[in-house]
Amino acid sequence: MTIGIIGGGQLGMMIAEAAKKKHYKTICLDPNPLCSASHVCDEVIVGSFNDLTKLQELGSKSDVLTYEFENIDALGLNYIKENYNIPEGTEPLYISQNRLREKGNAIACGLEPVPYQQVLNKIDLLAALAKIGYPALYKTTTLGYDGHGQYLIKSLADIDQIPFNTEGILEAYLDFDYECSIIMIRDKEKIVSLPISINKHKHGILDLSIVGQKLPIFNKIEEASYSFMEKAGFYGILCIEYFVKGDKFYFNEMAPRPHNSGHWSIEGSTLSQYDLLVSFLTKEKLEEPHLKGNTIMKNILSEDYAKLPLFKNKPGIYIHDYFKTELKPRRKMAHITFTDLTYIDYLEKYNKIFEGEKHE
Ligand code: AMP
Repeated sequence: MTIGIIGGGQLGMMIAEAAKKKHYKTICLDPNPLCSASHVCDEVIVGSFNDLTKLQELGSKSDVLTYEFENIDALGLNYIKENYNIPEGTEPLYISQNRLREKGNAIACGLEPVPYQQVLNKIDLLAALAKIGYPALYKTTTLGYDGHGQYLIKSLADIDQIPFNTEGILEAYLDFDYECSIIMIRDKEKIVSLPISINKHKHGILDLSIVGQKLPIFNKIEEASYSFMEKAGFYGILCIEYFVKGDKFYFNEMAPRPHNSGHWSIEGSTLSQYDLLVSFLTKEKLEEPHLKGNTIMKNILSEDYAKLPLFKNKPGIYIHDYFKTELKPRRKMAHITFTDLTYIDYLEKYNKIFEGEKHE
């Protein structure tokens, strides 16, 4: 059986690693012949995610398709849905590509985002600010990830930096207690999920995922997330990110693909998010994953890439290098998983290595 992956980044690489353990073949489609997944996949088709001839080549060589890349255009999505076996469907991806669609769908399926308003121009923004108040965040509705396309508005003067060259939203800036995420996999029989991780960001980019503590609110979050997935009619893998403030939790974003905040599961869980996705794609029975112990995932961006060797050959520490050929500012280059480690111990032992670390 061959799994075709649209996208050959680190997520594609880790899907391919999980598939390989079970002796499935993988082919990825990516514009870069030296993409991360090229180091693991059996074949790389070099081309754009939106090139129908390349999608056709991938589809015709694969028994089942999945995506690790989010911005496939509507034409490409329709083409693969109509012609190939893509058991997750393309609807979850279409919804997640636009913040307004995503938040509207979250509300329709029982989840509450922080207050937000659609903004097309300066007049809309002023009206939205009058309703939402300061501080607020302006975000573009599309192509926003890792804090791209976001502007913090603390006062009227901050409006001048916004280009208004695309549709946006204004949302309340929430002084949350923490962020967390849940990763679920659903087939026709049931939903299984990984333990909820607490996520710490720096400059809008995930820095740490911390797993092991089961807070009382997690039961409510899990219940609401399962109900969301059922109401939305989604199958396959889905990550939902939340903000938690007191005893309330707010929907932030969803991703219908493996998620950065689930990398920890490769070593920290009996089954990783990638193992579970592969089981789903190949119609194997979905088994419940079990947490092995306290686990922490640390993202390594370009700025810290040279520090990676410090963590080599250390028991309980696992390095995942994405083999990217170019260092770009704040690019995710690798991650490190620390097993049997609490956040307090992490801060004590390793935080000083990443000097100047301040979490949001
Ligand atoms: P996003 O791309 O929307 O997930 O935003 C990236 C990060 O920015 C989030 O993980 C948060 O750390 C922060 N952020 C986004 N929206 C808000 C908000 N409404 N209030 C406070 N922080 C936010």
